[in-house]
Amino acid sequence: MTSPNGAQQVALEINNLQVTYYTDAGRVKAVDGIDLTLMAGERLGLVGESGCGKSTLALALMRMIKPPGRIEAGSAIIHTDMGSVDLLKLNEEEMRQARLSKISYIPQGAMNSLNPVMRVGKQMIDAMRSHVPRASERELIERAESALESVELKRSVFRMYPHELSGGMKQRVCIAIGILLSPKVIIADEPTSALDVVVQRQVMETICRVQEKIRAAVILIGHDMGLMAQITNRVAVMYAGKLVELSTVREMFTDPLHPYAQALIRSLPNLENKGIFQGIPGLAPSLLRLPSGCVFHPRCEHAMEICKSAPPPKAVTSTGRFVSCHLYDEHGNRAHSTVRQQQPAIGL
Ligand code: SF4
Repeated sequence: MTSPNGAQQVALEINNLQVTYYTDAGRVKAVDGIDLTLMAGERLGLVGESGCGKSTLALALMRMIKPPGRIEAGSAIIHTDMGSVDLLKLNEEEMRQARLSKISYIPQGAMNSLNPVMRVGKQMIDAMRSHVPRASERELIERAESALESVELKRSVFRMYPHELSGGMKQRVCIAIGILLSPKVIIADEPTSALDVVVQRQVMETICRVQEKIRAAVILIGHDMGLMAQITNRVAVMYAGKLVELSTVREMFTDPLHPYAQALIRSLPNLENKGIFQGIPGLAPSLLRLPSGCVFHPRCEHAMEICKSAPPPKAVTSTGRFVSCHLYDEHGNRAHSTVRQQQPAIGL
């Protein structure tokens, strides 16, 4: 996505985002110093094991973190033609206006977020009304029906109740609500996890098509690496609340830098090694008792002495890849030799 002068437009800049939960058992740093930049029209995959902070990051961007959670620090700046705004600095009313119009969120099991006793159209109009108070009822109906059409639903769905729709149709309604006000950023948190495989693909294609139409950036959260390979432009890997690697989808699947990313890719079914599955040894650590140094060191086959005591540096390569690991110097060059692993054959 380029501006008239040919430069790429930044849609979202996340700097040093930190979210902590204050539980009875102790302090949990669920998101720990995340930096990310999304370009307009880009599709970024966000992956990692359950509990690594992916959904907390999404909720923080939507300012939907509930106590005992708290956004401790950082900024999340959305750039639009009308200027830039730091979501984390908005007051409650400003943030309410920003949801749907600047950033929207399609949650896991979004289909269950529809009100079962309210017609679809009424829910769509309610979502828009406070954002466009001067719009007439007729204009709102037209906008809602055309959003339904853009996700390949008939206009008649406007007058239906959620129970009259299939799971895939309900998910499309949620996507239609998410794009009603043409947000700059759409966060889709495992949007197809409750759907069968065929419908999953159709729903993902719908998200991509409407995202391209409104030129929004998408953060796609999920576990399905095959889906990530087909849908996204870049992939960010999180581990225990931290970003450990950010690479283009091709680089991630053919030459991952971080040992955890390497293990994730290696664990995918491989056409050449049928029947042999390679898991990642050990368990993800409790966020209440994180290992010292690099939090991945107890599971890392390349761990060195320094990894046990010093947090790894953050490095950006000359091609813009991010990696946080002692194996690399500050320019992302390999400072120590590693055993390169054969990566699975995924059609990219
Ligand atoms: Fe492994 Fe050390 Fe890199 Fe952590 S910093 S991933 S332990 S090599």
